[in-house]
Amino acid sequence: MNIAVFSAKSYDREYLGSANTLARHTITFWDTRLMADTVPLAKGCEVVCAFVNDRLDAEVIAMLAVEGTRLIAMRCAGYNNVDLYAAAAHGVTVVNVPSYSPHAVAEHAIALLLTLNRRIHQAHDRVRRGDFTLDGLIGFDLNGKTAGLVGTGRIGTITGQILQGFGCRVLAADPFPPAEARATGFTFCELDELLAQSDIVSLHCPLIPSTRHLINTARLSRLKHGATLINTSRGALIDTTAVIDALESGQLGRLGLDVYENEACFFYDDHSHQPLPDATLARLLAHPNVLLTGHQGFLTHEALTNIAETTFQSVNDFAAGRPCAKTLRPS
Ligand code: NAD
Repeated sequence: MNIAVFSAKSYDREYLGSANTLARHTITFWDTRLMADTVPLAKGCEVVCAFVNDRLDAEVIAMLAVEGTRLIAMRCAGYNNVDLYAAAAHGVTVVNVPSYSPHAVAEHAIALLLTLNRRIHQAHDRVRRGDFTLDGLIGFDLNGKTAGLVGTGRIGTITGQILQGFGCRVLAADPFPPAEARATGFTFCELDELLAQSDIVSLHCPLIPSTRHLINTARLSRLKHGATLINTSRGALIDTTAVIDALESGQLGRLGLDVYENEACFFYDDHSHQPLPDATLARLLAHPNVLLTGHQGFLTHEALTNIAETTFQSVNDFAAGRPCAKTLRPS
């Protein structure tokens, strides 16, 4: 099959290329994001392989269908950027990689928490400059603290288990907690109670209409004063302006992010040669108690290997006319 890979980075070329060694599909890698302007690059490709910040709205899907696309293979778990109704209407199959390494993302959430809390990034900067002072670097013991998980699916459950290993009491809010999560010893409660009791809150629910700006001014006011908030899930779970206000008032103590609600305009590209044109992001980054990484929770060898192998399993099944196990359908 002819496959157009959008938003392709060096690691996509390496891992997708290796996974294709046996199947020998024809892959064209495009650095650019998929959007209406770049759809013509997919001309004649039965398969389009896309990522978290590619645009797969109704307009783009209709254009892809005209160009001959029959399968959209999302090489990620989240699919909030895909209009599944439009895909169904145009007879385009959509697959994703629902679970490639929940450990990768859970461990990144913990890395953000530990770095922020113990100010490792600031300490590293100081030491490299020959400054060995400790003023302003005071953290807190995780042992004995209460951690709240919003979402206890694959990633949330592993994050909670790691936090239990640090000696945290783990609270959890999830309207549909899976059996694995219920077997962990987490205490399930309502979101408001979780916010009021937790020293650390970590978000692990999907971005759907009902969770957009789940963390807003009202919810931040219910948070335990000075708590730490971690978001490795999707940027728009948080109202960024509200969260900056909460940081400035001290209501929110620390903020660790791997995602940002307008990340599609910046993430995965080098903007270091120009001032950031996003005033909200600039305001966020200026805050000393904020740590941001550029959506790299998935970036481990194991996760990239699983993503590539699962993606090609779907492509191979599709090419052979077999049902694709990872097919997404509108709900
Ligand atoms: P999952 O589907 O296994 O679990 C999601 C859980 O959230 C489910 O148990 C669901 O019931 C729960 N949920 C739904 N609505 C909720 C709500 N309003 N409040 C609380 N819980 C709610 O998903 P997962 O594999 O654990 O992934 C979680 C999210 O992590 C994904 O949606 C994706 O956005 C994000 N993610 C980020 C990266 C990264 O690189 N940073 C990588 C993979 C996934």
